[in-house]
Amino acid sequence: MVTMYYDKDADLSFLQGKTVAVVGYGSQGHAQAQNLRESGVKVIIGLRPGKSWKQAEEDGFEVVNVDEAAQRADVIQILLPDERQAQVYQDSIAPYLRAGQVLLFSHGFNIHFGQIVPPADVDVAMVAPKSPGHLVRRVYTEGGGVPGLVAVHQDATGNAKNIALAYAKGIGCTRAGVIETSFREETETDLFGEQAVLCGGVSELVKAGFETLVNAGYEPEIAYFECLHELKLIVDLMYEGGLSRMRYSISDTAEYGDYMSGPRVVTDATKAEMAKILKEIQQGQFAKNWIIENQANRPVFNAIRQSERNHPIEEVGARLREMMSWIKK
Ligand code: NDP
Ligand code: MG
Ligand code: MG
Repeated sequence: MVTMYYDKDADLSFLQGKTVAVVGYGSQGHAQAQNLRESGVKVIIGLRPGKSWKQAEEDGFEVVNVDEAAQRADVIQILLPDERQAQVYQDSIAPYLRAGQVLLFSHGFNIHFGQIVPPADVDVAMVAPKSPGHLVRRVYTEGGGVPGLVAVHQDATGNAKNIALAYAKGIGCTRAGVIETSFREETETDLFGEQAVLCGGVSELVKAGFETLVNAGYEPEIAYFECLHELKLIVDLMYEGGLSRMRYSISDTAEYGDYMSGPRVVTDATKAEMAKILKEIQQGQFAKNWIIENQANRPVFNAIRQSERNHPIEEVGARLREMMSWIKK
C-alpha cells in the first residue's frame, strides 16, 4: 500500500523564516508561488527577462535573475521546462549551492536520468501536483487542493521529507492528499502514461478511427464528431466514476460493442509494444533520444509536429469548432 500524507502530517513551520525561490513562472510556477505566498511563506521568483518576468511582477512578486534567486533562497523549486533545467542549473544554480539548501522539482526527469547531479550536502526532493497549474491555483483559492506526489532523492539535512511535506501543504496538496513515491517511479510512470495512453495512444487511436471512416467514404465532419469530439464526454464520465460510470451512462449497445471490439483494437501485439516502450523508458533510451534531439535543435520533433498539424482531422476540426460558440479560442 502507498503512504498518503494529509494536512495533519505536514508542518509549515519547516518553511518558517526561510526564503523559497520558485524558478520559472509558467503553468506550475505561477500557481505554486501564489499558493505558497498565501500560505504565509516568503517567496521570490527566479527568471530571465521576458514575458513571465512581467507577469510575476504584476502579480506582486519580487523577481530576480536565477543566479540571485539561487544565492538568496533556502529552498529552490525548479519549475522550468524539463529540457532546459540542466543548462540553467549548471550555469545559474550549481555555482552558488551551499550545504543545507533544498532543491525541489515537480518532475523527476533530470534527477532520475542524471542530467542534474546535485552535491551531496543539499537536500533533493520532489513535490509534484497531479494537475495542470491553472487547476493547482484555482482549487487552492476555492479552499481545496489537488492531490500530489512527494519523493526524497537525497536527504542531507535529515529534514528533506518534512520540508517537502511543508511545501506540499503550502501549495494546498495535503488538503487532498499526497502520495509518497520515488523519483524513479514518478519519472517512469509519467513518461509511460503520456506515451502509451494519454497523449501518444489516444492521438493515434483518434486518427486511426477518423482515417478508417473517411477512407470508407464517410464525411470527415461526421468522422470528426464520432472519433474526436465525443471523446471528451466519455473521458469526463471516466474521470467522475471510472469505467463503470462511463459504461452505466452509455447505451447497452455501446457497452456491448465496447466489450466485443475494444480487445480487437488493443491487442496482445499492442500490449507487447507497450511493454517495449516501458523497457525503453526504464533503460534510459527514450531519455537519451530526447536529450540528443534537443541538443540538435529538434529536427525530428519539428518535422513531425509540422506534419501532424496538417493532418486532415485538424483542418476539419478547426472548421467545425467555429460552430461551437462555447469552446474558448
Ligand atoms: P512552463 O513551460 O509553463 O513554464 C516554464 C517557465 O520557465 C516560464 O516561466 C519560462 O519563462 C521559464 N523559463 C524558460 N527558460 C528559462 C530560462 N532559460 N531561464 C529562466 N527561466 C526560463 O513549464 P511548466 O510549468 O509546464 O513545467 C515546469 C515543471 O513542472 C516541469 O518539470 C514539468 O514537468 C512539471 N510539471 C508540469 C505540469 C503542468 O501541468 N504543466 C504538471 C506537473 C509537473 P519565459 O516566459 O521567460 O519563457
Ligand atoms: Mg509528463
Ligand atoms: Mg455514437
